[in-house]
Amino acid sequence: MGASARLLRAVIMGAPGSGKGTVSSRITTHFELKHLSSGDLLRGNMLRGTEIGVLAKAFIDQGKLIPDDVMTRLALHELKNLTQYSWLLDGFPRTLPQAEALHRAYQIDTVINLNVPFEVIKQRLTARWIHPASGRVYNIEFNPPKTVGIDDLTGEPLIQREDDKPETVIKRLKAYEDQTKPVLEYYQGLTASPFIYVLIEY
Ligand code: AMP
Repeated sequence: MGASARLLRAVIMGAPGSGKGTVSSRITTHFELKHLSSGDLLRGNMLRGTEIGVLAKAFIDQGKLIPDDVMTRLALHELKNLTQYSWLLDGFPRTLPQAEALHRAYQIDTVINLNVPFEVIKQRLTARWIHPASGRVYNIEFNPPKTVGIDDLTGEPLIQREDDKPETVIKRLKAYEDQTKPVLEYYQGLTASPFIYVLIEY
């Protein structure tokens, strides 16, 4: 990297099932920048049994967000180790206070928002059916069973995981939208050069 090259500070946003993980890994494979995923960061802490990990587990198990002050401290602490790198943040910021705290610490150059229609995500996320006894997984689109709703080998009925049921998926997507709407509005309102807001529509 040349001496005059600037470091890129980027954020990627997108609902569960929007393809955020895939897009992020494509970007980080082709460009020299660090990928920091808040979910991975929390899961790492949980695995290591750190104080934050124990706290995070209690919230994640209840399907709740980690409190803003804890999450912000953790993310900013991690970013301190990456000052000499370009980075792409994934999963953080998730709320307005987190976005404001990040803004106070760093100038964000770009926000990529993957705007995938609810219907498309719902189709993707609800396409998975499993045979509970064996754990065999089918996907209605890519790997369908020979007969709809029936396991190929045993002839037993397939089920959908609680997480993959349309009503659960819709609830998760709605919660994501409610949380992140203020964050997106905040970024859309930032006009300071060279801020770039990228909206990718599917
Ligand atoms: P993810 O892998 O991004 O879906 O994150 C898994 C879980 O970690 C989420 O359901 C939240 O409970 C928690 N989490 C991840 N990122 C954040 C964040 N920025 N703020 C609060 N909680 C978070």
